[in-house]
Amino acid sequence: MSNEREEPTRSGIGMTSARTRERLIQRLVEQGIRDPRVLDRIRNVPRHLFVDEALSSRAYEDTALPIGHGQTISQPYVVARMTEAVTIGGVPDKALEIGTGCGYQTAVLAPLVGRLYSIERIEGLLDRARESLKVLGIRNVRFKHADGNAGWQSQAPFDAILVAAATHAVPQKLLEQLGEGGRLVAPVGPEGRQELLRLTRRGDQYLRERLGLVSFVPLLGGLS
Ligand code: SAH
Repeated sequence: MSNEREEPTRSGIGMTSARTRERLIQRLVEQGIRDPRVLDRIRNVPRHLFVDEALSSRAYEDTALPIGHGQTISQPYVVARMTEAVTIGGVPDKALEIGTGCGYQTAVLAPLVGRLYSIERIEGLLDRARESLKVLGIRNVRFKHADGNAGWQSQAPFDAILVAAATHAVPQKLLEQLGEGGRLVAPVGPEGRQELLRLTRRGDQYLRERLGLVSFVPLLGGLS
């Protein structure tokens, strides 16, 4: 009985999602996202599962949305851009993510790398992210409740590091934990407006590329 009543509603949401997701993909393509693997991930990861039900109708807009604890789920364009920037031309074996948040970026990136290590300082968010990834059947991610400024020493070096919170300068520990030829992307700059940078390690040198302006919540210290 309850099934009969719920079914039309559920499929209704499904159809709307498919259309609005395609619109989002189109927008990302227009903005320069090219890698079909990345576009497929944005198409297939159900972003509405990562936000509060009250916001689910806006889940496929290309915008950041609140996820509680004063944090936001990243904008799909930025997630796509960062994912593309660290996975370009291959499949990094080991990747590190700082700032799991609700786990959306984690879910987009995970199948495009061998193993993903993800650190979040707010336990409530991390618990939810763990649960969402389990629901999606994503199994190659290890989570840690810690201050990401220190990186994840025991698992270093990493082929890719993705920093999902704004910093004035990339933490030294993260630079040290990047393997030879590895790539790190991070929003660098003051609150409100940062430059998305990609650093590629060549020995003791870090080749620096600018990927455009972004706006992230700050990388903080300590746990919560
Ligand atoms: N990409 C995430 C959102 C990132 S928002 C998503 O898709 O949901 C930035 C996240 O970084 C927030 O959850 C914040 O709590 C976390 N963060 C900030 N400083 C941190 C630190 N030092 N270590 C670990 N996580 C941190």
